[in-house]
Amino acid sequence: MKGWLEGRINRISKLDRYVRPEKVQGAIKLDSNENFALDADFIKSVAEEAARKVDLREYPLDELDQLYSQLGRYTGIEEACIAAGSGSDQIIELLLSTVGGKRATVFTPTFSYFVNRCELHGIRVHSVPLSKNFELSTREFVRSAKSSDLVYICSPNNPTGNQFARQEIIEIVDSLDGRLVLVDEAYVDFAGYSLSRDAARRNNLIVLRTLSKAFGLAGARVGYMIANRRFATVFRSTIQSPYPISVLSLAIASGVLARAEQVKKTIDSVRSERSRVIERLSRLNGIRTFRSDANFLFIETGRSVAVISAALESAGIVVKQLGTISGHRGCMRVTIGTPEMNDRFLQCVEGALS
Ligand code: PMP
Repeated sequence: MKGWLEGRINRISKLDRYVRPEKVQGAIKLDSNENFALDADFIKSVAEEAARKVDLREYPLDELDQLYSQLGRYTGIEEACIAAGSGSDQIIELLLSTVGGKRATVFTPTFSYFVNRCELHGIRVHSVPLSKNFELSTREFVRSAKSSDLVYICSPNNPTGNQFARQEIIEIVDSLDGRLVLVDEAYVDFAGYSLSRDAARRNNLIVLRTLSKAFGLAGARVGYMIANRRFATVFRSTIQSPYPISVLSLAIASGVLARAEQVKKTIDSVRSERSRVIERLSRLNGIRTFRSDANFLFIETGRSVAVISAALESAGIVVKQLGTISGHRGCMRVTIGTPEMNDRFLQCVEGALS
């Protein structure tokens, strides 16, 4: 007879999971929205300096406080409203496993990790489809959300790239008092506005941010959330484990935040490359691009998907293949890299279609 444990493991083994991308040696990596516009040597020298500074024999204490003070300066938010985690993934996981709820509302398509984690914790997920142009029907979303405990809004959205209008999200938040609204702003540094200030003032809104994207530290695993003072305090003291981020990662994060001006320059260059790549792709027949407020583009290649995919593969360029999304065929999500990487991508697509 199967025991309780076997039943639990069996249930978990059948769930959808986040599939990590494969590492292709020597490839031009445009599949995970990392920031390659930030020079590798810059990050390396910050990491070397951090390694010299820290004493790995000790648990991290002051380093976390220093991170909070720097994040406060960078975001313009009171430090007491900020709480950190081992990537924003871990913060999502902790919020779901502690605050949780019975039912969550999301829109679709969106970042699959959130939905997977809900399923793992037995939280039912109701999905509201975005329109063909990836707009959100606020009314339909709120109608579903009123029967949920928890709402997830990714903005700018992964994989579509668009940031929703501030007023639309505020309207949703304000009509859901007493329920938790999570706004995932992993890509906000490339976008037009942040709801961080609104999160610090409200009692039902948490904004999730990260150093993995704009700050080029995906490997260091440093994310943070912004909430009102009370929630951030409870998160820091009781929900989060005492030492969530390694002392080395904390020192590296502090080193990069201390050079935020340099990072901002690469953000600007990613934004201007984003416009350039969109403009070049828009000249191609049968390719459709969508507005992006992030460091990646959502591209519909339609009938050319096979020929473009084959050309990318033989050129060693890796992108995220999405298949059919919201009625669009041959969809791909492509990270904006350095001008050279982007040129290689553009030449490859142009060559495949000529
Ligand atoms: N949210 C979104 C929308 C993302 O795309 C990602 C990265 N894939 C994350 C969160 C996770 O970021 P982190 O590296 O901070 O865990």
